[in-house]
Amino acid sequence: MAAPIGSYAMRRRTFLGSGAAALSLASLPLRRLWAAQDLPAVSRTGGAITLPASDLASLRAQLRGGLLLASDAGYDAARRIWNGAFDRKPALIAHCAGAADVRAAIEFARAHDLLVSVRGGGHSISGQSVCEGGLMISLAGMRGIRIDPEARVARVEPGVLLGEFDREAQAFGLVTPAGTVSHTGVAGLTLGGGFGRLARRYGLACDNLLSADLVAADGRLVRASATENADLFWALRGGGGNFGVVTSFEFRLHRSPPVLLGGPVIFPLAQARDVLRAYSDFAGDATDDMYADAALTTLPDGQKVIVIDTCYAGAIDAGEKAFAPIRKFGKPMVDAIAPTPYVTLQTSSDKVLAVGRHYYLKAGFLRTIDAPFGDSLVEEFASLPPAVIVIFADAGGAISRVDPTATAFWHRPARWNIVTATVWDNPADTESNMAAGRRAYAIAEPHVKGFYVNDVNLAEQSQAKIDSNYGGNLARLAKVKTKYDPANLFHLNANVMPARA
Ligand SMILES: Cc1cc2nc3c(=O)[nH]c(=O)nc-3n(C[C@H](O)[C@H](O)[C@H](O)COP(=O)(O)OP(=O)(O)OC[C@H]3O[C@@H](n4cnc5c(N)ncnc54)[C@H](O)[C@@H]3O)c2cc1C
Repeated sequence: MAAPIGSYAMRRRTFLGSGAAALSLASLPLRRLWAAQDLPAVSRTGGAITLPASDLASLRAQLRGGLLLASDAGYDAARRIWNGAFDRKPALIAHCAGAADVRAAIEFARAHDLLVSVRGGGHSISGQSVCEGGLMISLAGMRGIRIDPEARVARVEPGVLLGEFDREAQAFGLVTPAGTVSHTGVAGLTLGGGFGRLARRYGLACDNLLSADLVAADGRLVRASATENADLFWALRGGGGNFGVVTSFEFRLHRSPPVLLGGPVIFPLAQARDVLRAYSDFAGDATDDMYADAALTTLPDGQKVIVIDTCYAGAIDAGEKAFAPIRKFGKPMVDAIAPTPYVTLQTSSDKVLAVGRHYYLKAGFLRTIDAPFGDSLVEEFASLPPAVIVIFADAGGAISRVDPTATAFWHRPARWNIVTATVWDNPADTESNMAAGRRAYAIAEPHVKGFYVNDVNLAEQSQAKIDSNYGGNLARLAKVKTKYDPANLFHLNANVMPARA
């Protein structure tokens, strides 16, 4: 995508800079004329504003990556995000090629008091990375990754997807724990926390962050690490995109063999109650090397099942011993636990959760799965449409040994993140599928304590709920927010409100 946009922007700049511009106007298609007009847009606070054509031309001239308006080729592709349920149209998209572009975009937004959304990998579940009528700061073109095998450190740009990062790191026998689906973005995932197959062993993605470069709301480029702007570094690890736009991440890497023991074991739904009870008991004794998700789902042939999806972070033979009890949770219809390249394990859910389908998610953290709760969830699931998947995403281990106040990520004691994901393709099925997703989550809701900001539909959360979800870290987060984004330019997120002057 970057090449055509870049070359188009170059043509535009040449055009705008040329003295023959007026002569050429008559031969331009109408869409180019539109681009030379003032543009209606939406302000930071939701009001109607107009962006003067001369200011747009000046922004376009500054952006190395290019500026996209609705009339430009590439605009539609650039505004699309993972969740096809959101069809929002930003007034303009800054397709950034580097920190200088990000800075120019932020300064433009501040000068015009414009609504801003920030797109890293584009996987925001609640569609927060694309805004209606505002400026979308897209980092999708910033895809650089540099691995330093000696220092075991990676430099990652904010448009990088997990699969790209895994591939580069694994080429050197290294890894940083990130998510479980390879097309998810590193940026949003890390800033919100970052749970993955190796997180029980090595911690959250944000626990492996060593430093970040960020363009703050006033356009300053600041570096955050344990020794520089430590307040910001603390806040970035769980406080999401509240403080500015991260233009570079530095991660600690761990040695990890290219082949790990992992894969699914599948049992028919008739055994799901017993399997879930056994799974819950098994989790109590799990070592940090053991990762096992449980999911109630429907196979392509229509069979409802419970799947235990595994990954062992240590040696293959130790993993065989550790996972042996899973095979006895019931009578498996499929047992596919086997030595598998880690990068392959990381793609196992890519198709089910493909880009562009319609999704509705609800989620919350669990500390236990008690038997009556598990039984009633299985019972409810039996009557739900195949669109609904219920996932018990594994947590605990190294994640839980970090003090909740050591980073902005508060929910350290959680043992699982329960997610009800509803997936469909036909927009006509939206209402019925969302209702089914709500039915599933209603069983879980009384048992959850807090939620993962990256996995919920933020539009359904009140500000009071978001505030209390940051727990004992809220006051400190508000202080950092006030320092780096006092006017709340970056508010399309699990918003930390700046302290009022
Ligand atoms: C298919 C799928 C699988 C997932 N699996 C996991 C998983 O295994 N583990 C897990 O922890 N989470 C998982 N998630 C949730 C995931 O963490 C969030 O969706 C996350 O927001 C994705 O980041 P992104 O960069 O792709 O998203 P985007 O939509 O690009 O961004 C989301 C938000 O993050 C902020 N943001 C993004 N980039 C920047 C930046 N550079 N600077 C400042 N703010 C920024 C913005 O507020 C933005 O609205 C999954 C999501 C999906 C859709």
